[in-house]
Formats: sequence, C-alpha cells, structure tokens
Amino acid sequence: MSKRGKTPSLIGGGAGASKFVVARRVRRCRRCDVSMRRGSHCVEVKIPGKMGSKTYCLSCFRDVLERSREDLNVLARQVNDLVAGASVVS
Ligand SMILES: [Zn+2]
Repeated sequence: MSKRGKTPSLIGGGAGASKFVVARRVRRCRRCDVSMRRGSHCVEVKIPGKMGSKTYCLSCFRDVLERSREDLNVLARQVNDLVAGASVVS
C-alpha cells in the first residue's frame, strides 16, 4: 500500500509546533508566570486551531516535553497492543 506524502507529525506544522525564540520584549511564562527579560530564551508553542501561541520559560517547556513524552508513550503502547491484537487497557 502506498502512503501519501511525508509522514505527518502530531507536533508538526499546526498544533503543538514549538519554536525557540529570543524575547524581544519582556514576556511572561504562561505556566509559572515568571517574567522573562528581553534577550532571554523562551519557547512559543502554537495553539491548535488558532493563530496565536503560548509562551513558556525553558524550565516549564521541559515539563511540557516530559508530559508530551508520557502521552506519546501511552499512545505507542496502545497502538502496539492493537497491532498485536490485544485489547487496549491503559
Ligand atoms: Zn515557566
């Protein structure tokens, strides 16, 4: 069976795409509310279905990544179970 185009990523392009940026003005972390000075590194994460993005400090972004990894692990386990023909129990 042929597959169409590039393999899509759950965090590619639209929802969840993340970008490291250097703050050009003071910004606040969406999660811990720390204020990040001009010139400091932060991460912009696209909001699904919207034009905007959320800004996180590096420390919070680490947590976001870790949480995402857990979610991906759960999905990977479930798909593996399905492929193996077992019923999904998460
Ligand atoms: Zn933060």
